[in-house]
Amino acid sequence: MTPTVVILGRPNVGKSTLFNRLAQRRIAIVDDTPGVTRDRKEAPACIGGRDVTLVDTAGLEEAPPDTVAGRMRSSSEAALRAADLVLFVVDARSGLTPADRAFAAWLRRASLPVLLVANKAEGRGGAAAAMEAFELGLGDPIAISSEHNEGLGALHEAVAEALGEPPDEAGEKADDPDRPLRLAIVGRPNAGKSTLLNTLLGEERMITGPEPGLTRDSVAVEWRDGTGGRVRLVDTAGMRKKARVQDRLEQMSVASTLGALKEAEVVVLVVDALLGMDEQDLRIARLAEREGRAVVIAFNKWDAVEDRAATRRQLDDVLTASLAQMKGISVVPLSAATGRGVDRLMPTVRATYALWNKRIGTGELNRWLESALTRHPPPAVDGRRVKLRYATMPKARPPTIAVFGTRAEELPEDYRRYLVNTFREAFAMPGVPIRLQLRGTR
Ligand code: GDP
Ligand code: GDP
Repeated sequence: MTPTVVILGRPNVGKSTLFNRLAQRRIAIVDDTPGVTRDRKEAPACIGGRDVTLVDTAGLEEAPPDTVAGRMRSSSEAALRAADLVLFVVDARSGLTPADRAFAAWLRRASLPVLLVANKAEGRGGAAAAMEAFELGLGDPIAISSEHNEGLGALHEAVAEALGEPPDEAGEKADDPDRPLRLAIVGRPNAGKSTLLNTLLGEERMITGPEPGLTRDSVAVEWRDGTGGRVRLVDTAGMRKKARVQDRLEQMSVASTLGALKEAEVVVLVVDALLGMDEQDLRIARLAEREGRAVVIAFNKWDAVEDRAATRRQLDDVLTASLAQMKGISVVPLSAATGRGVDRLMPTVRATYALWNKRIGTGELNRWLESALTRHPPPAVDGRRVKLRYATMPKARPPTIAVFGTRAEELPEDYRRYLVNTFREAFAMPGVPIRLQLRGTR
């Protein structure tokens, strides 16, 4: 469900101007509720990278101004009750009025989540004028100018923060510190997945595991790794009985791998170093990227590799040429059979997981954007300039950046790639898929 953000305030503070500034399309829904003489407008909007339904309660002002109750009725009140967030707008230039104070008192009593927005705070002195609104007891005012498009970045950010973390692609919030990391071990048949799992389980403290004699199909496997954290194996499909795999010799089941990828947070892709990274391995890696999962490559059978330098070089070449979207992906050479190097796997998985979860502050993010734009300005689209204004990070898991600007959504693919690559470099995020959302603003 997309959250509803309602714009509220007395007449002429600039609600409609703000609405039009934030809305992606101008869809006016005529509200035929008796007593509401002005339209209540609703439009989809993307604020701080979150898709929301934006509601303008301009109709409110036509209600009898004598009592607060009078102002809060009909569809506007209904809109407020359904709000996930209220943007309460005051006019920084005219100063507070009794109507502002009455609305504020009502909002405080209703304990609705509110952001206080001081509009018309453009230019010098704007921010200072906005501070007066602090008196309303609704937190720090966010100084903006809807008409001159100033301060909107801070507003976007505040909205994103107030709405909280959206459910991520992995379907869960990461707030429980002892929640097991969901790990998938995937790869071609015979790459050494089962051997690797057994070695991991042999070295680490198993919490639950398959009973002897059972296949690993649909059996929960959970253990504590060397770093002390819990790990749950989600990929049981890839661990099925040998006989069944050999039926489909060298045939990877995309469907079962995909199921594991969807459930996992981090994917260990086991690659047979004797064979090198081939098309099937790349396909799995790309699927993981598409699903937004962090990936670590376990470069297995390292014990049996003769020319290690050449083998490693070959792998790096393939990764550079064919997996650019996961640049810098971590590779752990190991031997599942002898156990050598296996102790390095889980710390690498944890480090990659941390990057996948990492959040970056708006200040840092916008410094990155500025330097990226300076080094390589966006190309014109159809002869018209694309002006990128600011960036936010609406979510992690995987890291997602939203960049706002005029005609931003029209930027060509290679420029998008440039942005993602410089972001990856600036914040050192190897092996983690990065999502870029480009949002046009007017
Ligand atoms: P509403 O009645 O709250 O919906 O307010 P409107 O959006 O219709 O704006 C009321 C008036 O304030 C209009 O004349 C706008 O042009 C003006 N206005 C809106 N935002 C700003 C702003 O940021 N700065 C200034 N100086 N004027 C603004
Ligand atoms: P799976 O199909 O991916 O689960 O692969 P298995 O774990 O069943 O291993 C396939 C084959 O590779 C078996 O014959 C293993 O003994 C062998 N193997 C697995 N890991 C290693 C390793 O680290 N070194 C060597 N030399 N052989 C390995």
